[in-house]
Amino acid sequence: MERVYNFAAGPACLPEEVLKKAQAEFLVYGESGMNVMEMSHRSKDYLGIIQEAEADFRALLKIPAGYKVLFLQGGASTQFAAVPMNLSQKGKAHYVNTGNWSKKAIGEAKKYLSVNVVASSEDKTFSYIPALDSSMFAPDADYVHITSNNTIYGTRFPYLPDTNGLPLVSDMSSCILSEVIDVSKFALIYAGAQKNIGPAGVTLVIIREDMIREDLPAFVPTMLKYKTHADENSLYNTPPTYAIYISGLVFKHLLSLGGVPAMQKINERKAKKLYDYLDESQLFSATVQKEFRSIMNVPFVTGSEELDAAFIAGAKKAGLVNLKGHRSVGGMRASIYNAMPEAGVQALITYMKAFELDNK
Ligand SMILES: *Cc1c(COP(=O)(O)O)cnc(C)c1O
Repeated sequence: MERVYNFAAGPACLPEEVLKKAQAEFLVYGESGMNVMEMSHRSKDYLGIIQEAEADFRALLKIPAGYKVLFLQGGASTQFAAVPMNLSQKGKAHYVNTGNWSKKAIGEAKKYLSVNVVASSEDKTFSYIPALDSSMFAPDADYVHITSNNTIYGTRFPYLPDTNGLPLVSDMSSCILSEVIDVSKFALIYAGAQKNIGPAGVTLVIIREDMIREDLPAFVPTMLKYKTHADENSLYNTPPTYAIYISGLVFKHLLSLGGVPAMQKINERKAKKLYDYLDESQLFSATVQKEFRSIMNVPFVTGSEELDAAFIAGAKKAGLVNLKGHRSVGGMRASIYNAMPEAGVQALITYMKAFELDNK
């Protein structure tokens, strides 16, 4: 069986070069005589791996001094709780509802503080990003939370909101490292790794140091305090060692390609090719308004459930897998993260054109 083009939303494809490198080091890593999974997380070899991964991640996103990078567990879903537990002082936060993940973040935050949903795009099945202005963000709140890229609906924020001086928190699970960002505009960024970084099991948090507090309510679990992990450089307890190692290989791979600016160019080119075809096709259409289209997740439909099903089944035979849309949206979705080669996007378009001809 040959490798396929995997358009899954997450866990998603990884760069083949990274998988080969891991394969080459599988039995014996460096001079250690063992696999990375077998190492103590406090060994010299492993400290080298985690420290280099952090340094490369910082270089990729040009993370300024004054920010900590944390390698955590529990996925972005655990951050939905950790953020309000760690950041709440006034007991109130502003959230923007742009899809299922925002809703989950809101639902979880409500357990710990009063949530003000300042805007929502639910009225049009989350096919756009609502307009925001600073007057929506009353200063009596602890932070503003957005979901920068909405994995399920295929939208992304084309701008950063003016938060009226409040700390900005973003869930970047499905877009981190896909385009250049100015980290200094954020107080906290979190991302599960399994979309655009590496394997499931590690979650990255970038947090401005003044947001790391000691004086938290007694109920906050030790493991969910940012301070616990910041003080111990993500080695308070056993971190997800192998997932961090593979993520580190991905970081090196991205640096070798020219870093995030180079990835952004490639990603914009891949996305444009696909959207251009969707916009000219007589059969397929994109579901998101133009200015809000994600360059990572591209949902599209034929308008017929039968044709959608035939398309997905045929694609699978052509080695293009996991194109089924999320169960809450239907249709198709192509996730084209950093690791999806341009050739994969081209193969998808070629198959779509052939399918369109056959189904005129
Ligand atoms: C996948 C995803 C999540 C959930 O991530 P887990 O790591 O499974 O908890 C949250 N937010 C966004 C934007 C996602 O894409």
